[in-house]
Order: sequence, then structure tokens, then C-alpha cells
Amino acid sequence: QVALQNLHKYFGKLEVLRGIELTVESGEVVCVIGPSGSGKSTLLRCINLLEQPTDGRVVVDDFDLTDPDANLDVARRSIGMVFQQFNLFPHMTVLENVTIAQRKVLKRPREEADRIALAQLTKVGVAEKAAQYPSKLSGGQQQRVAIARALAMEPDLMLFDEPTSALDPELVGEVLRVMRRLADEGMTMIVVTHEMAFAKEVADRVVFMDDGVIVEQGPPGEVLENPQSDRARSFLQRIL
Ligand code: ATP
Ligand code: MG
Repeated sequence: QVALQNLHKYFGKLEVLRGIELTVESGEVVCVIGPSGSGKSTLLRCINLLEQPTDGRVVVDDFDLTDPDANLDVARRSIGMVFQQFNLFPHMTVLENVTIAQRKVLKRPREEADRIALAQLTKVGVAEKAAQYPSKLSGGQQQRVAIARALAMEPDLMLFDEPTSALDPELVGEVLRVMRRLADEGMTMIVVTHEMAFAKEVADRVVFMDDGVIVEQGPPGEVLENPQSDRARSFLQRIL
């Protein structure tokens, strides 16, 4: 379970998150939608403390990540993140990309790390690319490697920040299929996305953000098809 309590984030004088309250239950898939600049990426980055929240708390399984005494390394390990730009290390093979954090952070021996990496690469369908460098892979393959890399750390929570936005349209489906399977397996996921079909079919809950606040949230059928707020209605009209 993840609980965001009264989360505020300022960049200088700009208040980007203005009191976010959000609880995500274990196994739940939450899709976050909203206009550009509304604070979606900042919200994800505050959850795993890539950004330090200015005020408020991030509590993961009763562990307060925002407590100054918290051991962030331990907490961060349990949160995987996948970015729009895949952020693979270009000078490392696919296998090395998926084993490096296992070995450095979790101190897994090479054989164990390799075995787990290959299992995850198999799961996302790119095991045959293990010895290749990322530049030899398609965008969809690279993004699936990035997902495998996060999963190899055995996270309790996966954060996705527009994971398909940088992909050619014909490669979007293969990444969404991997994410959908992960959701079916019970992974707790927070997904920032513009893929409304994915949100509609996979999300347990859709959260609409605008201007640093959650304007409305609910089951996808309600928020996407019958939004209550003018802001959500006009956003959805613009993108659909
Ligand atoms: P998009 O849909 O375009 O990705 P977003 O909803 O993810 O938008 P954020 O990236 O969270 O929006 O940005 C929210 C606001 O915070 C924007 O006004 C942005 O310019 C600002 N911002 C984000 N990161 C920083 C930073 N490191 N320093 C200063 N301002 C920032
Ligand atoms: Mg963003």
C-alpha cells in the first residue's frame, strides 16, 4: 500500500503539487492522466524520492519515506520506475543493464543476477537480445528491457511515466501488453499515460490531475466516460 498525504512540491516559487492525497492499495493499478505541466511526472518522482517533496508524507507499507531518518536505499529498492526515455546504459549489453543494480545494490552474485535477468528478459520477450547493446534494439524492445531491469529488483510497486510516448505507434502495443500482463499478475502500478484504451481496460482507478491537484478520480468507466468536472471534460475532449 502506498499513501501520499498532503503532498506539496515547490520548484522555487512555483507550486507544482498542491496537497495531493492518494492511497493505492496493494495489487491496484492506478492510471494518472492530465494536461502537460499538471505535475504528473513530479508526482511519480516524489513517490520514489527522486524529488524531495516540500511538504507532506510518502508512506509505503507503513514505512515513511519522507522521515528524515528513513533508510531511503531500502525503500527505493522496493519501487521500480520506467521512464518515457528508456534510460538504458548505452555502453552495457542488455544483460549487463538488467544485472548491474542487482549486483551493486542487492549484492547478488553474478550467476544469480544473470539467472534472474534472463528470466525477466524472457518474460518481456527479449531474452534473445541479452548480448546486444541497446542501440541495436527497437524502441519497444528497449522499453521492455527497461521494464525487465526494474522487475529484476523485485519491486513491490512499479511507477511508469508515459512509457509508450516515445515509441513509434506500431511499437506501443508490445509494451502495453507487457504492462497489462504485469497488472494481471497483481503488481501494484501507478501509470502516467495518454493511452486511454489502456487506462479504460487495465486501470482499477483513473486519477485526473490538473494544476497540481487531483481534480477527480474513480473507476475508468466513470472518469473517462462521464467526468464530473469541467476541467476533466475539456481535457478528455481535447485528447480523444
Ligand atoms: P507532461 O505531461 O508534459 O509530462 P507533467 O504533468 O508530467 O507534464 P511535470 O513534469 O510534473 O508535469 O511538471 C510540472 C511543472 O513543474 C511544470 O510547470 C514544470 O515546468 C515544472 N518543473 C518540473 N520539474 C522541474 C524542475 N526540476 N525545476 C523547475 N521546474 C520544474
Ligand atoms: Mg511528465
